Amino acid sequence: MTTENMLKFVTRAAEMPEKRDETIRREDFQEIYARYAPDAAASQAGRCSQCGVPFCQIHCPLQNNIPDWLMLTAEGRLEEAYEVSAETNTFPEICGRICPQDRLCEGNCVIEQSGHGTVTIGSIEKYLTDTAFDEGWVKPIRPLHQRDQSVAIIGAGPGGLAAAERLRRLGYDVHVYDRYDRVGGLLVYGIPGFKLEKDIVQKRHDWLQDGGIHFHLNVDIGNDISFSELREKHDTVLIATGVYKARDLQVPGRGLGNIPAAMDYLTASNRVGLGDTVSAFDDGSLNAKDKNIVVIGGGDTAMDCVRTAVRQGARSVKCLYRRDKANMPGSAREVANAEEEGVEFVWLSAPEAFLGDETVKAVRVARMRLGLPDSSGRRSPEPIEGSSENHDCDLAILALGFDPEDLPTLFSEPGLPVTRWGTVKVDHQTQMTAMPGVFAAGDIVRGASLVVWAIRDGRDAADSMHAFMMEQAKAAPAAAE
Ligand SMILES: Cc1cc2nc3c(=O)[nH]c(=O)nc-3n(C[C@H](O)[C@H](O)[C@H](O)COP(=O)(O)OP(=O)(O)OC[C@H]3O[C@@H](n4cnc5c(N)ncnc54)[C@H](O)[C@@H]3O)c2cc1C
Ligand code: SF4
Repeated sequence: MTTENMLKFVTRAAEMPEKRDETIRREDFQEIYARYAPDAAASQAGRCSQCGVPFCQIHCPLQNNIPDWLMLTAEGRLEEAYEVSAETNTFPEICGRICPQDRLCEGNCVIEQSGHGTVTIGSIEKYLTDTAFDEGWVKPIRPLHQRDQSVAIIGAGPGGLAAAERLRRLGYDVHVYDRYDRVGGLLVYGIPGFKLEKDIVQKRHDWLQDGGIHFHLNVDIGNDISFSELREKHDTVLIATGVYKARDLQVPGRGLGNIPAAMDYLTASNRVGLGDTVSAFDDGSLNAKDKNIVVIGGGDTAMDCVRTAVRQGARSVKCLYRRDKANMPGSAREVANAEEEGVEFVWLSAPEAFLGDETVKAVRVARMRLGLPDSSGRRSPEPIEGSSENHDCDLAILALGFDPEDLPTLFSEPGLPVTRWGTVKVDHQTQMTAMPGVFAAGDIVRGASLVVWAIRDGRDAADSMHAFMMEQAKAAPAAAE
């Protein structure tokens, strides 16, 4: 930080009454944030010290030019601020809503670090793009010229969509295939509606379609169309299929009813929110209303399950996690939200058995203590002998994480290289696999990660696919001679 900036920062911090600061924070951290009034957005953006060492930008996976769009917002130049924010981010209104900012941009804000409460970057990012849509500043995608080459993208999640947008702008004929009936991947069926309204995702679907991107929904690649057929039809292929194989828990009683995987529970809830009829929700097996709920796991998916159960009217909601609060993988903000909503956390507890006759009635857990650090550096939980206890429940939701599906088998492509975890192996400079013209992006490369990383990968993959197809186009006339 330069001396001049430091002085500016100290002066602004001193001018900021603590009370106003607290009020802003409390409002901003509500979910489906209340829409900012323009002057509130400007005053919040004006809290940025323009410190000169943009830690926020460095810790944003998209390296968004945050200080610049905060300054423009503070000056009331909202359209320009929106344009700067959209330059590096395909879906700023989505990241603004669901990025774990406390671990990324906001957690590294200099003002946060100095104890004055972060500039609420995510809320401002969301505000700018929501305003841009309302004001008609979000321009349709209109490529300058149309190219002959075509691209297949498998997966309409954020990774696939970010790549689709970039390639379409460059004039390619872009085809997105998805086995779901809606566009968005986990944005639509994983992340709950109270964090990300589904009409926001639909708006982006409409915008991409209007830009000339072709969507082929309800098409399962490897089943309805073979992977090799797709390769023959298109010049390049992007695999952006995400990770969907739920990790399971092999303990006695696992075969009882009402022990769903988190994605089944969340998908049912999202479908109901979208107006679909879901029989497993209607018959109660995926509905938490009036039930005692236990969610097993400590990540963000577990937090989404407990908070969905609260909203469905559960009688009680407990979250069981085998480590302690300090070692939870989920975002601290999500845990705080869940606690505030009445979720009970049973730290240091690991399931030993599910109890019941036909359906689950209780989970027996062993209490744990943390031992020595394992190879990852985290302290391993170990059971305390004789510590078992039962927790009543009518629905036990497993949120233990996800692994990739077996893509080489699914795609009948034994040559598709995967890591020992099943993620697709790529050259990290180009995102290309060992199969020429086949690229991969998002969770299927990283393992379960974040929307903002999927967007980053999708954009990077699109740039490499463009370079590849340019080379292909250059070589084509020579080959024809
Ligand atoms: C419950 C939950 C909550 C989350 N909350 C957050 C959050 O708050 N913030 C955040 O940043 N991240 C969150 N994440 C993580 C985030 O959603 C993912 O990292 C991100 O969606 C990955 O994007 P992707 O494009 O790689 O894959 P996905 O979003 O999973 O999309 C993959 C798409 O590929 C399709 N597909 C798969 N196989 C095939 C096939 N064979 N043929 C055709 N189509 C196929 C799928 O139907 C899907 O539409 C959450 C994840 C979960 C599970
Ligand atoms: S994309 Fe995410 S990390 Fe980057 S500025 Fe926006 S909210 Fe922060």
